[in-house]
Amino acid sequence: MTNEELKQFKSAISITAVAQSLGVEVSHGKCRCFFPQRHSHGDRTPSVSISEERGTFRCWVCDDVRGDVISLVQVVKDCSFTEALNWLMEQYPFLVPASARKEMAKIAERAASAAARPHAPGPAMVRVPEMAPPEPEEPPLVSEDDRKKIILSFLKRLSPVDNTPAGKWLARRRIYKPVWDKMLLRTITNYEEVNNSLKADFGEEVLKYVGLFNDKGHLRYYKHPLIFPYLDPQRRAFYFQSRAIDNTVVPKELNLRGTVPYPYNMVALDQKPGWVYLCEGVVDTLTFLGQKINAVGIPGVRSFKVEWLNLFRNKNVVLCLDHDEAGRSGMEYIGNLFTQAGVHNVILGEGMENLPTAMKEGEDINDWFGGKK
Ligand SMILES: [Zn+2]
Repeated sequence: MTNEELKQFKSAISITAVAQSLGVEVSHGKCRCFFPQRHSHGDRTPSVSISEERGTFRCWVCDDVRGDVISLVQVVKDCSFTEALNWLMEQYPFLVPASARKEMAKIAERAASAAARPHAPGPAMVRVPEMAPPEPEEPPLVSEDDRKKIILSFLKRLSPVDNTPAGKWLARRRIYKPVWDKMLLRTITNYEEVNNSLKADFGEEVLKYVGLFNDKGHLRYYKHPLIFPYLDPQRRAFYFQSRAIDNTVVPKELNLRGTVPYPYNMVALDQKPGWVYLCEGVVDTLTFLGQKINAVGIPGVRSFKVEWLNLFRNKNVVLCLDHDEAGRSGMEYIGNLFTQAGVHNVILGEGMENLPTAMKEGEDINDWFGGKK
């Protein structure tokens, strides 16, 4: 496995799911430290944060308890890097590149020497103690149900994009009103009002906790006023992405904290036989929808979750990632995942590179359909 393949292997795995399958209790991105004896009260209030987005964990007390999904397996199972990687490959055989699967053991060895030593304490230094006996869970600040209600309440405060800068921005990209309405696109026209009314209704602490507010206590979307709700089959959204419409703003998009629950426009994945176009990002997906082409979007190659493969049952997939180096390697990777899961897939335009209408190097779907940046 090359370093790049190892990176992709790790990023396709949910670190939370791995922790749970190892018997670690994870609640709201936190779990108790694996070394409770180093903490007062045996770490009754969990000190280890697990970042699903970054695929990392970290104890806020023990400096040496941190790392990626492989280090996590090492710490919990008290084993070497190679053993941890082998264990993960056994758990997720369909994620292991075909070339690597034949010689799993050898690859693991090479990866072990190629990859940096994880920060987690090695088996020689520290024995992993028995897990502390279960103690009553402290209730989270906001229940999952309430979190969803707050997200819905936020989205209800926003305006349709008609006659707004966000609407103009979309129109320049040749994405028009039928698509705005179908996908319930929204924008923040009065930032102060949305900010203040949310604060009055829910309070700063709660809003920070659910990820709508930043650490300074303000609504996060000051520079990202265009909101793309991720609609479920009931046309509700408990997840969204926001987009800057000023080209100088970096990053262009903000994700809501936490795991992306499903691809954008998941209603296209209706389990009926047919084709679906898989795009990188919401704008490309909307571009296809405007052409009445069935499409779904993923926020990025690395955010594609193995758990989603099931959603693609009965579909043939056209991979439409950006026409550049990163897009190509992403398509190869996701294509392998689909193939191993028995989902027929092709790369958009493959074999037609010499046609005058082919996508040019560096283009994305929206560029290809004539959208202006
Ligand atoms: Zn600790």
